[in-house]
Amino acid sequence: MRRSPSSSQLRKASRDDSRRWNLLTALQAIARHGTVSRADIARVTGLTRATVSSLVAELIAEGLVHEVGVGEAESAGKPPTLLAINGDGRDIVALDLSRQPFQAAIFDLAGEITHREVADAPATGDEAVETAIRLAETCLAASSNPVLGLGVGTPGIIDPEGTITEAANLDWHDLPLRRFLAERLGLAVSVANDAHVAALAELRATDGADTLLLVTVAEGIGAGLVLDGALHSGQHLSSGEIGHVVIEPDGDRCRCGLVGCLETVAAVPVVARRADGSHDPASAANAGRRLGAALAMVISAIDVDRVVINSDLARVDGYVDAVADELTARIHRSRRPHLSVSASEVADPVLAGAAAIVMRDELGVILR
Ligand SMILES: [Zn+2]
Repeated sequence: MRRSPSSSQLRKASRDDSRRWNLLTALQAIARHGTVSRADIARVTGLTRATVSSLVAELIAEGLVHEVGVGEAESAGKPPTLLAINGDGRDIVALDLSRQPFQAAIFDLAGEITHREVADAPATGDEAVETAIRLAETCLAASSNPVLGLGVGTPGIIDPEGTITEAANLDWHDLPLRRFLAERLGLAVSVANDAHVAALAELRATDGADTLLLVTVAEGIGAGLVLDGALHSGQHLSSGEIGHVVIEPDGDRCRCGLVGCLETVAAVPVVARRADGSHDPASAANAGRRLGAALAMVISAIDVDRVVINSDLARVDGYVDAVADELTARIHRSRRPHLSVSASEVADPVLAGAAAIVMRDELGVILR
């Protein structure tokens, strides 16, 4: 028979929970506001000054926060000590599996990339899992601070346990990626869809806009939809899986088994290369028009004004214009003045988003 906990144990548990909640609240306030005094934290969180002082002492002892100087005195009092997230307090390893070969980076707690790695060669299937593990291990070896966790942005449909239900381009089916990585690497692992994490990174970089569709065009095509500041994951965590919608029933067979998916006409591998290795502009524009045509129904259905393209193709002359022109031509006139289509200005959005989900999962910090 299970014994119920004694009342003193219950009191202790709830005291620990509320202490932990307050710690996360204080940490979130510091992360969001950049540089703050203890009084600022008390003001924005509603916690007492004494509580904040004790919480900050604990965050400093943990190495998550440090003192960075003094601010201006509010009245005749002494100037307040300013606090900020301690960038060197922890490292976060992030993997971007949306591109071949896979990419990795170490982020510090302040969100800066301090180290990069690229896999030796493209990989799919079991080899892709081993490649991801090797990349993460190389980053762990290069890390000079305690590692908070590993964040992974991967193509495919991912369940809440971090199992890849289906990632056709990597030939992964029912792959418990999060568990594999956590067991092999011995650290906390967060796994999420590449387009979803990229949308979170894009949201952080936009001023004010809290609704956007971030379309990632790489080996595959996926989208992340942010509505009113929150990622819309969908009823089966597969929102934005537009790459395997059939748009050309008489077209080429796709890696997923269907014929004529959007990816077969608009993903990066179908865009021709020139002799110097760069993407051919005419071919890129053609892929852009196919994408724009496919997005017209998406945009019209959800009524979103801001479309951001995350792709190497966005650097090719005429590509983003081709997406925008085709999309604009296919939607109702009343919507056209509001629509904006632009290239993402976030460097490495999948890596940045993968690091952000580790901050969220391990520290409860959601940056905006
Ligand atoms: Zn397909």
